[in-house]
Amino acid sequence: MRFGPAGNPLGYRGKTVEVCDYIRGRGLDAYEYQATYGVRIKKQSALELKKNSEKNNILVSMHAPYYINLSSDKDDVIERSIMRLVQSAKAAEWMGAYRIVFHPGFYTKYTPGEAMARCKKTIGKLEEQLESLQVSDYTFAPETTGKKSQLGSLDEIIEICRDHENFTPTVDFAHLHARSGGKLRGKDDYGGIFSKLEDELGLNKLHSHFTSIEFTDKGERRHHVLFEDNYGPPLAPLLEEVAERGWDVTIICETPLLDEDALRMQRAYQEVLRKF
Ligand SMILES: [Zn+2]
Repeated sequence: MRFGPAGNPLGYRGKTVEVCDYIRGRGLDAYEYQATYGVRIKKQSALELKKNSEKNNILVSMHAPYYINLSSDKDDVIERSIMRLVQSAKAAEWMGAYRIVFHPGFYTKYTPGEAMARCKKTIGKLEEQLESLQVSDYTFAPETTGKKSQLGSLDEIIEICRDHENFTPTVDFAHLHARSGGKLRGKDDYGGIFSKLEDELGLNKLHSHFTSIEFTDKGERRHHVLFEDNYGPPLAPLLEEVAERGWDVTIICETPLLDEDALRMQRAYQEVLRKF
């Protein structure tokens, strides 16, 4: 397994293009570049980041902007969403990001089925644009989302990825926990997720997010520090399930402590392997 922070580590004050030196120095091996408020990185910097990550053997992924809704009823929102994903794909190619994580959208006035149909139609347009721009080396990784108003249940993410070639899931376990009202409790609950991904998409490799999470009946509310109070989902059974299955899994830590908690996750995994 690989572990790393969502964005620059808390104590890091240097340049983003050299952040992988620091992450490697801490003993971590993954990094999710955050373009959540817009893709602003220049080509030259992205290329430097790639070089630096390769030198340090850090697996880089990218989180695309939040302002994306592929099922919107507004043409301008659809166009801007496509544009942001095109920018993300280009930047991801430069920086060598193996996944472009994004939240597909919201149901708004649509039924889940209608929202899904609109989302797929928009993805078709996105693929056409990328082809015409000759951007081909990309893997979009739509993420399971944390709010019930958002498109992005596990089944929906699987459906999107089944129908589109360069798409594979990001499983945010905390989001699944939040949107299900706290259903991730033990090893079997995680096992069900992995079995589904294996059966329906033939996967044995996964990009994922993890944090402790607070939720309401609408879903996700706030991320919390690992092992804090009584916020789930539980980490140990997830790590045990991964160890047993022998999957190739990367976990990006999205708690407020980022690299600190990524290290705690890594230590917990080593503990699991020792007992194995
Ligand atoms: Zn996430």
